[in-house]
Amino acid sequence: MINLYDLEIHKLEELMLSEGQKKYRATQLFIWLYDKKAKTFDEMSDISLSFRNTLKEKYTLDIPKIHTYQKSKDGTIKLLLELEDGAKVETVLMRYTYGNAICISSQVGCNMGCTFCSSGLLGKQRNLTTAEMVGEIMVMNEVLREENQGQRVTHVVVMGTGEPFDNYDNVLDFIKIINHQKGLAIGARHITVSTCGIPDGIKKYAKEGLQTNLAISLHAPNDELRSSLMKINKAYPLKELFEAIREYEQVKDRRVTYEYLLLEGINDTKECAEQLIELIKGTMGYVNLIPYNETNLNSYKRSSNNRVHAFLDYLMKGGVKATIRKEFGSDIDAACGQLRAKVEGK
Ligand code: SAH
Repeated sequence: MINLYDLEIHKLEELMLSEGQKKYRATQLFIWLYDKKAKTFDEMSDISLSFRNTLKEKYTLDIPKIHTYQKSKDGTIKLLLELEDGAKVETVLMRYTYGNAICISSQVGCNMGCTFCSSGLLGKQRNLTTAEMVGEIMVMNEVLREENQGQRVTHVVVMGTGEPFDNYDNVLDFIKIINHQKGLAIGARHITVSTCGIPDGIKKYAKEGLQTNLAISLHAPNDELRSSLMKINKAYPLKELFEAIREYEQVKDRRVTYEYLLLEGINDTKECAEQLIELIKGTMGYVNLIPYNETNLNSYKRSSNNRVHAFLDYLMKGGVKATIRKEFGSDIDAACGQLRAKVEGK
C-alpha cells in the first residue's frame, strides 16, 4: 500500500497517469489531502466511485498517532508520535510572535553521534518516510484546530531528531509537499533545514532551486574541538564543510545560519569566540547562540547567562552578527530527544 502523503505533486501526477487517470487528479487529491483535510477516500465526492474504490484498495491516508501530549505554560506543544511500526518520534510546536513554528524529526534516532545530544545515543533506527514527516504537521495542525480555531503551522524547522541530509530524498519530497501551493502552502522562506554539516548534501541542496533557509550546526570553531563534540567532523573537517558552504552561498546568493551551542568551559571561551570570528568572517552567515539544554545523559553544563552574553559581545565586536536563541517549553521535557528517551525507558 502506498501512502498518498508520500508523494509530491509530480510523483502523484505520474501515479495518476499510470492509473489511467488525468494528470489533474493529482491536484484534486492534493486539495482533498491538504486543504480539505479528508480522512477517508469516501469523502472525495468529486472523484468517481469506481476510482475511489481503486484508491481504497491500493493507497492509504495514514498519519501518525499521538502517543504522548505535553503542553508548556508558554504554549509550546510537544508530541511523541507513534508510527505504524511502533517507532516513536518527537515533534514540537513553538509559538513566536510571527507564527507557529514546528520542529520536525527526520529520522528515528540518529547516527551522527554528537556527544552532547540525546537523540543520537541509541543510533539510527530508520529514516522517516516523507508521509511520516508530512504527518507530523498534519497531526500538529489537527491539535491546533482543536485548541485554537484558525491557527495552523506557519513555519517549519527540520531540527528535530535525525540528520536531514542522511535522509535526503524523503526530506526533499517533504519540503516540496509542504511548500506547494496546493499542498500545505508554507512559504519557502518559512522553511529551515538544519544539518550537522554533510558537504555533499549541502552542495546538492544548493542546486534544488528552493528558496528555503539552511542552518549549519557548527558548535566549535576548530577541528580538534569540533571533532571531540561531533563525530561528523572527523569525516568532513571544517575546511571541507566551509568549501561546501561557500559553494552554497554562491549558487543561491543566500547566507546560512550557524548554530552554536554554548557548553560551559568547553566552547564558550574568549579564544573560541575569536576563532569563530576568523572562521566565518568571510562568509555571509550569522550565528545563532543556543543555550544548552542539560540532560542527565551526559555531563555537559549549560553556560551561565553571563558567559552567553559575553560570547555574544565578543562576536558582535568582531563584526559577526549573532543572536541568542529564545527558549521554549522549559517546564516540559525540553531537551532534544528527552521525551522519547523517557518514554522508551532508556
Ligand atoms: N542533525 C541536524 C538536525 C537535528 S539537531 C543538525 O545537527 O543540525 C538540531 C539542533 O539541536 C542542532 O544544532 C543540535 O546541535 C542541537 N541540540 C542537540 N542537543 C541539544 C541540547 N541538549 N540542547 C540544545 N541544543 C541541542
